[in-house]
Amino acid sequence: MFKVNKVDHVGIAVKDLEQAKKFYTEMLGIPAMGEEVVAEQKVKVCFIPCGDSEIELLESTEPDGPIAKFIEKKGEGIQHVALNVDNIENALADLKEKGVRLIDEKPRYGAGGASIAFVHPKSTGGILLELSERK
Ligand code: ZN
Repeated sequence: MFKVNKVDHVGIAVKDLEQAKKFYTEMLGIPAMGEEVVAEQKVKVCFIPCGDSEIELLESTEPDGPIAKFIEKKGEGIQHVALNVDNIENALADLKEKGVRLIDEKPRYGAGGASIAFVHPKSTGGILLELSERK
């Protein structure tokens, strides 16, 4: 079927990516990875590697993007938690069969070339959960 391997990353919504990045690079001394714009999600992304997992900083590129809307409602902070799975297609099919509320029934493109899909907070105890499969 499918297997959850680890916490892949924690996604943090920020107003200013450059400024947020400085905390991790300058205060914590972690070298940031490159930035990427994911046009489909109206977001600019930067990953901060933390051992086996990463922090994903997310800045909205459009005033009506999901990250901008999140910040408007809740302020800056943790927006989602991502779990790495070995087979995202199987994971989605299995969760759907179990009656889990999915935001994405099919995987879509995620930063870094991962296949990702979101699970609705109604089914996860209140957090937006991302499933991520990296090739
Ligand atoms: Zn993410």
